[in-house]
Order: sequence, then structure tokens, then C-alpha cells
Amino acid sequence: MKKFSLFFAILLVPFLALANPASKRTYRKLVLKNGLKVVLVSDASLNVSSASMDVGVGSLADPDKRLGLAHFLEHMLFLATKKYPKLNEYGEYLKAHGGYSNAFTAADHTNYHFQVNHDGFPEALDRFGHFFIDPLLDYKYAQREVMAVDAEHRKNIPQDTWRIMQLRRSLFKKSHPASKFHTGCLETLKGTTEQELREFFETYYGPTNMALSILSPLSLDEQERLVRKIFSQIPSRKIKIFECSWKVLDPKNALRLVRVVPLKDMRQLKLYFPLPPQYKKVGEKTINLIGMTMGDEGKGSLLSYLKKLGYATSLSAGVGNETRFFSSCGVTVGLTPKGLQNWRQVLTLCMAYFELLRSSPYPKHIWKEMKTLAKLKELYSPKGEGTDRAIAIASNANLYGLKIAEKVESYFTHPDEKDYYQLLSYMKPSNMLVFLVAKGLKTDKKEKWYGTQYSYVEEKGKFFESLQKPTVPKAIHLPLPNPFLPKRLGIYRERPVLIAKNRYYTLWYGQDLEFRRPKVSIMLHILTPNAYN
Ligand SMILES: [Zn+2]
Repeated sequence: MKKFSLFFAILLVPFLALANPASKRTYRKLVLKNGLKVVLVSDASLNVSSASMDVGVGSLADPDKRLGLAHFLEHMLFLATKKYPKLNEYGEYLKAHGGYSNAFTAADHTNYHFQVNHDGFPEALDRFGHFFIDPLLDYKYAQREVMAVDAEHRKNIPQDTWRIMQLRRSLFKKSHPASKFHTGCLETLKGTTEQELREFFETYYGPTNMALSILSPLSLDEQERLVRKIFSQIPSRKIKIFECSWKVLDPKNALRLVRVVPLKDMRQLKLYFPLPPQYKKVGEKTINLIGMTMGDEGKGSLLSYLKKLGYATSLSAGVGNETRFFSSCGVTVGLTPKGLQNWRQVLTLCMAYFELLRSSPYPKHIWKEMKTLAKLKELYSPKGEGTDRAIAIASNANLYGLKIAEKVESYFTHPDEKDYYQLLSYMKPSNMLVFLVAKGLKTDKKEKWYGTQYSYVEEKGKFFESLQKPTVPKAIHLPLPNPFLPKRLGIYRERPVLIAKNRYYTLWYGQDLEFRRPKVSIMLHILTPNAYN
């Protein structure tokens, strides 16, 4: 393997600066008089036109007596509007023009989106816009939509991801809205009145709490005219901004251990730490830095150490903006049967890794590598289109603001050491939930909405104390610098170059002239008579 690594180094270093291949895409950002934030994206090479509206309210704002109301409203909004009163007219129009639509309700925002062939876009956008201008919320159809929400919940019941997510919520502080059941079902939504729906809509669905994105080959001027004509009709509304605290858990001097029996045959150790909101510091990329370091799989990594012990098959770690109100750090270790038996040692090693991060110098080299990779991705990755891209831009515009809506991933300001260590100070046993997931564990409880079997204990004593300051094994260290990142980008040579030749192999380098991306792929054509022996 060493030899091939050397070739990577040879090929990537001598590139020169190259024009941005994505420069054809242009953006315009505006705020309408009613307060609606808008991002327009014009690109003649798009295959479909798309749009997304992000509303800054989600399930966390559900009234206690009406769990799932935000989700239910999302369904009801789709049905019909004053201007287009025919049921499902929107869906049929999109279908006739090669398009489709969808929506989702998250904890802190709700997103509506569609994509369609270019010729159907202006008309589709008008139908879409009227959801927010004059929705009928027609009560005739409420019962049918309650059943649709209920069916969605039933579909989620046999999925371990949903089961464990809801179980985690149920262990949050009872007074915190994040502890509630978010999806809604027949039991929670039966009997919802039109007034409840309208009240929720009028309380939170104001243009100042919304952001729209458009991706189309139309010029920016044409797009702006269209958007102003349609979306200026959304009435200005004095709305309530939903707020809640980041403290979903109270600090506790005990190990909060949850044993969970999954439906699938799997073995996992999962750690969860709630953190204060981080979205305002998006340019510092501190949360990405911690995730990148923890999740490293190379030499000296936590995963390679756990694998050597025969304890783990996989490890994923991430720190994310779970909602605008709180962030969280999650670590999931895929355990071997031996790892399951020794889960206490696996947990100790995870905590040791956080201790290593806290006691090591700020890993500036990783921050710089992340920035280089993000820059490369921005320059050379496909720019994305359709609903996926529209959703990302509208959601980012609503959370991070218009300025960086289209470039959140590549937006780097400065490394912030103080913040890094402060964030790491929350990865402590007293701010943690631990889930041990495996078939055959002893349980004595059943989660209310999904029926997940689990047990919950708060363990004090020696083991918990040992997690406070675990010893870091010598073989574990921070990721070493990545020597394979290019420093300059550009075309190397247009003609194939013979790099090496001997009696065993011939190696050519050939520059791709179509896509012109700083990416290397190696293809080996091995001729050996042994294949037939
Ligand atoms: Zn739904």
C-alpha cells in the first residue's frame, strides 16, 4: 500500500490555480417588504426547477395537549387554498409536469418543497406560494390527514432509530419540550379543531419567520419578479418566536445507563451529551473539528484501538446543531460480542478520548485540513439541484441568515480555542446519557409511544468515579497531519506521462480533460497466469 500512497503525493502536489468550474451559478438574496427572506439561484444547466420554504417552527412548539400539531398542520397546509380550492390540485399539477413535492416537520423548523420541469415552474410556484397566503385548512379532510399522520407513526414503530430517539427524549427533563412525543398519532390528534390549527398557523407562520429558496434556469431578474408577485401576498403577521432552553438534562453525579432491546440484531454503545446552541458560531467549525477528530479511523484513533482489542466494528461520532436551541454530541460504537461483554471498558476508552482532547493542544492542523477539504468540495463537487439543494439553502437561510445560506459548509472564519475547550468541558459523565443496545439485555420498562423495552439505572460509585478522569492509553493519539492534501490546484499535464516502468509493471498518469477535478483514481490491470491455476 505504501507505494500507491507515494503516487498520490506525486500527483497532487504540482497543480496550479484553476478557474472555479461552478462559476456559472449566480445568486441573489433579498428580503421582501413583509419580511420574507429569499435566496434566488440561477443556473442554465439545471435539469429541474425547485423551491423550498422553511418555517422556523416545529414540533417543540406543540401544545402539551396536542402532541404532533406542527406535523398535522404541515399535512393540512398541502390540501387546498382559496385560489386553488380543488383538493390535491397542487400534486396533480406537479405530476403532470414531471415533478413531485414533499414536506417534513423537524423539532425546530418545518420545510415544504417541490421540484418540477422548467415549463411548469412559474405555475407550480404560484400554487406553492398560496399555502402560505390563504390555506383553507379545510376541516372536511382533517380526519383523513390524522389517519395519514397516524400511519406515518405506525411505519416508524418497527424502526430502531425512531425507537431509540424517542426513548432518549423520554429521558430528558419532563419540563422540557424536547422530552415530548413529536410525530403525533391518532391518540394525540383525534378531535383537533380547525381553530387549533389556525391558531398555530397564525402564531408562528409569519414571513419574518420564513425563508424561501428558488433554483431555476430563469434569470435572477425574472425570478425576482415572480417571487415578488407571488410571495408579497403573504400577509405581514406579528408572530411569536418559540424559545426554549438548551438544558434538556440536569447535571447528575451518577452514570445514567439505559439498557435497550432493539428489534434488529445489533450491538451498540451510544453516548449522548447535550450542548448549548452552536449555530451562531458556524464559521469557527468547532463542532465539526471535534466530530472529525473523534471519528478518525486512522493510526492512533479510538476506533483502531477498539478494533485491536476486538471490541468494535465501527465508530461514528458527531457534534451537531440538533436544533437551534441546543446542540449535542453523539458517539455510537458498533460492538462485537466481546465488546458487549466489556462495554464498561469501551465506555472508559470513549471518555479517555475526550480527556485526550481536553489535555492536548488545539489541533489547528486538522482545522486547516477541514478548511482545505471544504474549499476543494466547494470548487469541485457537483453543486446540487432539485429539492435536496433547495431544502438545504432555505433551511440554512432561516437558521444562519441570508449571507452564508448557500455556503455554510465552506464558510470558515477562525479557529476558536477557547470555545473548543469550553465545548469539550460538557463531554463529562455528569452531562451524559449512555445507551447499551443489544438483544437479550434484561429490561423492566416499556417506552410509551413505541413500546421499546428498556431499563434505566443511575449508577454511583467506583466505576462512575473512574470515568471522571480516565487514563489515556499511549497508543491513542490525535490524528496525524494528512500529507495527501493538495496545496495548489490546477491541471498538471495534458498528455499522459509514464511514471514508472519495470519488468513487473508499467504506470501511466493521464489527466482527465472533461471534468478537471483534483481527484485521483487508480486502475490496475494485472496480467498473471496464476489466476487460472
Ligand atoms: Zn407527515
